[in-house]
Amino acid sequence: MKDEKRFETRVIHEGYESTQHFDSLAPPLYQTSTYTFANAKQGEHRFAGEEAGYIYSRLGNPTVSILEQRMASLEGGEGALGFGSGMAAVSAVLFSLTKTGDHILCSQGVYGCTFGLLQLLEEKFAITHDFSSMSTEDEIRSRIHENTSCIYVETPINPTMQLIDLEVVVKVAHEKGIPVVVDNTFCSPYLQRPLELGCDIVIHSATKYIGGHGDVIAGVVVGTQEKMSEIRMTTQKDIGGIISPFDAWLLLRGLKTLAVRMDRHCESAEKIADLLVKHPAIEKVIYPGHSNHPQHAIMKKQMKKAGGMISFTIKGSKEEAQKVMDDLQMIKIAVSLGDAETLIQHPATMTHAVVPEEYRMKMGIDDNLLRLSVGLEAPEDIWKDLEQALNKACSHGLTTVSEMK
Ligand SMILES: *Cc1c(COP(=O)(O)O)cnc(C)c1O
Repeated sequence: MKDEKRFETRVIHEGYESTQHFDSLAPPLYQTSTYTFANAKQGEHRFAGEEAGYIYSRLGNPTVSILEQRMASLEGGEGALGFGSGMAAVSAVLFSLTKTGDHILCSQGVYGCTFGLLQLLEEKFAITHDFSSMSTEDEIRSRIHENTSCIYVETPINPTMQLIDLEVVVKVAHEKGIPVVVDNTFCSPYLQRPLELGCDIVIHSATKYIGGHGDVIAGVVVGTQEKMSEIRMTTQKDIGGIISPFDAWLLLRGLKTLAVRMDRHCESAEKIADLLVKHPAIEKVIYPGHSNHPQHAIMKKQMKKAGGMISFTIKGSKEEAQKVMDDLQMIKIAVSLGDAETLIQHPATMTHAVVPEEYRMKMGIDDNLLRLSVGLEAPEDIWKDLEQALNKACSHGLTTVSEMK
C-alpha cells in the first residue's frame, strides 16, 4: 500500500502517522537519551529482543526511526540507518563488510575522506584496495581478487564528474557474490536509485542534498533489513556514530522539499553549464548533461536528470583559478554542496588536498579545476556573479555580453 505513492509524496508523508503522535502535523523531536521500562521484566524482554520498544537512543529513537523509514522508501530499500556524518556511515559500512586481509575495489575517484579511510584500513588492519575506472566488464573482472569483499562506487565521481555504469558493476560483482556499495550523495534518491539497479547498499552524506540547507552534518545507509539490522547491532552500536534526534528532525524537514529543490538545482545547473561553455575564460566544462560528456549515455540511462554539480577548468594557473573565486561577490567559497547557496571550491587544495599529487593528476583534478554547487538563487544572479569574475580573469581584456537577460 505505502509504496504506491509517488516519490514527491513520500518525501513528505512516508514513515509518519500523526495519529500516533498526538496529531502533531510535524514529526515530533524525541530529544531523549533513554526510555523508561514499566518494570524490570519489561527491561529484560526488550534487551532480549522479545518485546518491541526503545531502550536507549544509541540503539534507536522515534524521530530517527521516521527518518530511516522515509529514506528506505525513497531509495527503494527495506531498511535504513541514520548516522552522525556521511563518514560515520561510510566507515560503519566498510567495517561491516571487511576484515583483516580483505580487499576493496573502488571507483577511480572517491570523496577525500573516504580515500583517507581506505589508507587507514590498510595501515591498521591490512585491508587493501585498488582503484578502477570500472569502464568495462573485463576491466572490473581483472581487478577482482580472491579476497575482494566489497566494491565501492561513487557516481558521479567527485569532483571529476565521471560516471560509472552501475548495471555493469552489479553484473560482474554478483557473478562473484561481492556486494556493491554506492555513495549516492551527488544525486540523492530523486536522481538515481542504485538499489533498483541491483546494488546492495546505498550511502549518503545527508549533509548535502538530503538536508539541503547547510545546517546539519549527517549520514544515511540504506539496504536490506537483514544487513541494516546487522550494522545497527554491530558497527553502528559499538562504534557509535549515530545521528542525533535533532539532526534527524532537520533532515525530515529538508526532505519535504527534496523533489522541488532537485528540479531547481538541475534546471539552473543546466543553464549555468551552457553559459560557462561559451565564456572565453573557460577551458573545459564537465557536466553530465552535456552531450559531449564522455558518459552522457550512462547519465541518460541511470539518472533522472544531470544534477546540480558542475566542474570546470579555467584557462590559467592555480593562482588564476583562485582569483576567480576571490572575485565572486554572491557565490560563497566553501566546501560541501547541495545547499540553497551556490558554493564554489578548489578541489586540489581543499576537498582533495589529502590525495597525493600524482594520483590527483591521474584522476584529472588539475590545479585550474573549480567545482560549483549550483544553489537555489535565481540562475540569472548566479550567472551574473560568475560572469563578472570570469570577465576579470580574461587578462587580454576580452569582454563578453551576458547571454541571460
Ligand atoms: C561530503 C561527502 C561525504 C562525507 O560526508 P560528511 O557528512 O561530511 O561526513 C562522503 N561522500 C561524498 C560524496 C560527500 O560529498
